[in-house]
Amino acid sequence: MKISLFNISNFRVDGGAMFGVIPKALWSRQAEADEKNTIDLSLTSLVVETGGRVILVDAGWGDKQDEKFFRHVYLHGGSGLVGGLAGCGYSPDNITDVIITHLHADHCGGCFVNAPGGGVEALFPNAVYHISRPQWEWANESNLREEDAFLPENIKPFGESGKLNLVEENGELCPGVRLRIFYGHTPGLMLPEISYRGRTLFYAGDLIPTAAHIPLLWNMAYDLLPLVTIAEKQEILDEALRNDHLLLFQHDPLAECCELTETPKGIRGGRKGKLSDFV
Ligand SMILES: [Zn+2]
Repeated sequence: MKISLFNISNFRVDGGAMFGVIPKALWSRQAEADEKNTIDLSLTSLVVETGGRVILVDAGWGDKQDEKFFRHVYLHGGSGLVGGLAGCGYSPDNITDVIITHLHADHCGGCFVNAPGGGVEALFPNAVYHISRPQWEWANESNLREEDAFLPENIKPFGESGKLNLVEENGELCPGVRLRIFYGHTPGLMLPEISYRGRTLFYAGDLIPTAAHIPLLWNMAYDLLPLVTIAEKQEILDEALRNDHLLLFQHDPLAECCELTETPKGIRGGRKGKLSDFV
């Protein structure tokens, strides 16, 4: 098995929205805000090569929206999706599977891109898309609260691709890659857990987007069901601490991953760094 992480792009969102009920006096010590109160986030994707398959986890924003839309997310830095894959030794044709953690625009938009002659085309012509059934059904109904995140131009092409695999429940995608489904951020958030060199790596996606989100109450205001997020985090953190799992972060511009440690205040982040520092 080979594991690679790469940052598609950094972007900026409101710091208050990223930390929900946590006062700025506290979160601003963990993430520096600019004059508009935005903080930097990464879009770190994961590639797992195993048993003849090359599995990509999430595909970033893509390019289908207009310039005004992208002005609001302040994309900067990173290697891009195709460039980042190339840096890991892959072309889009090599990708056999894409796990879409959920259908919010910053996670799924890159799978279908503007075609040179108009319309959209699949960036990964040989890939099957894995999305949880609860997320697929939820996103297709949409709702006022997530209207800005569930964009029809991102979601429709999956349905029309003929290559959509709807995942019903927690289970193995292939040996060493397990999928787990969560409900607090959005119903059906699906996150992979990888067994690699004797260690379990949990890709924490939008459940624990950065190392600053490890404390149980440090959650995004975007979460639809905060109490469910807290319970789901508690389960993951307890399990990870007990078994010495590594957390991989999708949105942390400073740390690819971290270990956990027990403190009198609860479970907290321990040693942080690049994946290659740990496995
Ligand atoms: Zn999300």
